[in-house]
Amino acid sequence: MRGQTADKEWNGKEEEEEGETAGEDEDLPSFPRPSPARSGNSPHHTSMGKGGPLHGLQNCRGENYLTSGASAAVVDLLPPSAGGDLAAVCSWPDEMRFRYRWSSPLHYANTPGVCDFDYSRDCHNAKGEQDMCVVGAINNYTTQLMSYGDSSAYNLTESLMFLAHFVGDVHQPLHVGFADDEGGNTIVVHWYRRKTNLHHVWDVSIIETAMKDFYDNDVDTMIEAIKMNITSNDVRQWKTCREKSVTCADKYASESTSLACDYAYQDVEQDSTLGDEYFFSRLPVVEQRLAQGGVRLAAILNKLFSNSEEESKSGSQFLI
Ligand SMILES: [Zn+2]
Repeated sequence: MRGQTADKEWNGKEEEEEGETAGEDEDLPSFPRPSPARSGNSPHHTSMGKGGPLHGLQNCRGENYLTSGASAAVVDLLPPSAGGDLAAVCSWPDEMRFRYRWSSPLHYANTPGVCDFDYSRDCHNAKGEQDMCVVGAINNYTTQLMSYGDSSAYNLTESLMFLAHFVGDVHQPLHVGFADDEGGNTIVVHWYRRKTNLHHVWDVSIIETAMKDFYDNDVDTMIEAIKMNITSNDVRQWKTCREKSVTCADKYASESTSLACDYAYQDVEQDSTLGDEYFFSRLPVVEQRLAQGGVRLAAILNKLFSNSEEESKSGSQFLI
């Protein structure tokens, strides 16, 4: 069965000394033991869009879609520094990539140059350890969060921050791109006149350009505009999940891979210059993926945390 990772126990191990550099901790176990719940290593307050990829921006701002039960659980789990705002800590996993070296492969999955995602073939880290990819991570942290309300062995604050972030990552098409080019990271392109790489174009540049051109450089204005375009039919379709797996992250990854082939990689080579034509034809895809990420994260959190009355009202088909 694809996407079954329910028995894994990834979570924050003890923090290492400040000042370490990437590569110094290669021999640390890549499968860390769970740390005590609420171990107090709360992240510093960060705001979305500062320093990190912008592609998850919608994701952690799906408050409108949360039931009151889910909203209360999220606020309860967030570190105090977040001020009750999931968006404030949504980029925390990116900041922790070097401190928690084991978590680095959990931000993506790669295919061997083909346009479909296959969990058993593609969900592993560089050492070949199964489930160590973005899909396995979403399933794992969802499973961990099921213990909310019991005396959990997990640090559920970290589980929530990881889950929210990774649901954003799996919707960025090039986070499920080809292994050979590291999801577009090794494809050097010019975004208009600026030299960058294809992965960065999809993480940041398209959104940044849209914000500048259409939304007065304001993230919130852009998010509001995207939300206005989401119909109730979209929400119903996007959150439907019939797979016999913890979540439908497997399906979200497959969608990303085909979008990577049909849009991200399409007509792009080393040293391509990407401008208006690429921007205007790809922006709708980027906006739809942001919207889907937000709706689906809310669906997962609602299923996890809603009280029973709310849940029967929402009629969710989500299978967890
Ligand atoms: Zn990430």
